[in-house]
Amino acid sequence: VQANFYRVMLDHGFEASLIDSNDHQFLSNELLCTRRARLKKIGQQICVGDRVTIEEPDWQGRRGAISNVEPRLNLLDRPMVANVDRILLVFALADPPLDPHQLSRFLVKAESMDTEVLLCLNKRDLVDDVTWQMWRDRLVGWGYAPMGISTYTQAGIEPLSQKLQTGVTVVAGMSGVGKSSLINLLVPNLQVRVGQVSQRLGHGKHTTRHVELFALPKGGYLADTPGFMQPNLAIAPQDLVNYFPEARQNLAKGELCQFHNCLHRRDEPNCVVRGDWERYEHYLAYLEEAIAHQQKL
Ligand code: GDP
Ligand code: ZN
Repeated sequence: VQANFYRVMLDHGFEASLIDSNDHQFLSNELLCTRRARLKKIGQQICVGDRVTIEEPDWQGRRGAISNVEPRLNLLDRPMVANVDRILLVFALADPPLDPHQLSRFLVKAESMDTEVLLCLNKRDLVDDVTWQMWRDRLVGWGYAPMGISTYTQAGIEPLSQKLQTGVTVVAGMSGVGKSSLINLLVPNLQVRVGQVSQRLGHGKHTTRHVELFALPKGGYLADTPGFMQPNLAIAPQDLVNYFPEARQNLAKGELCQFHNCLHRRDEPNCVVRGDWERYEHYLAYLEEAIAHQQKL
């Protein structure tokens, strides 16, 4: 549903990012804006994270009109957020048990979004040091530097929050891993604001999907609704290898497969990607999925 009003937050000058489409209590750097008819005519949607131009801002009345939407660097679909600077992928070390296949799918999906990917493993309090180190070493082999955290003991929360102090971060992961607990720790005033909205509307949370960016205390923004990123791999087969950091290293070093259209299967001659990396099996499985998907189009 396309809302009629947009809450636009001014970062600097008239450059602004849209953060919400609901009428709201206004902060000093926010304007309630409409969308210019010209944008409606060309079907230009506006979504959370968009950078927009405001025409004729009325600072006293806190009103304005959006006349232009800047080209997007990227666009996540669930949740709908534009210009995402990073995806923070949250998995739990236990409860639910950490499933490497599931984790791998989410990582590949996140890598395909044209944005930085951070991985944190929550519920560090539920596993011993040996288990944590085993996972950490394994994931280093996948090309990641996972952060072990616990929202219960707050272990690892401070170093994590330091990595989120610029740009827009979207939190993703399966339900039950602790995303909400983490968001509540990172955005201390979130509870208050949710409370205000509920009070004014006279009922609980919105029934429609509602995405909003919240300012983090030391800078940066966090999408408040933990989006369940659908890990379907609608990816061009040729691109898939780029979403495995441990495999794209070889290509980044300038090494080339014999054939420019090499899909890095087992029987490919002189392939620099094929090798004894743990997730090569995942790569092959996802490749067939990506090819099947492409044939359906
Ligand atoms: P979400 O579904 O990803 O948003 O996860 P929640 O934040 O709702 O948490 C799911 C469950 O995990 C809740 O029962 C939390 O209390 C629990 N939980 C969250 N963080 C931790 C943690 O660091 N350690 C432990 N042991 N449990 C946690
Ligand atoms: Zn190859």
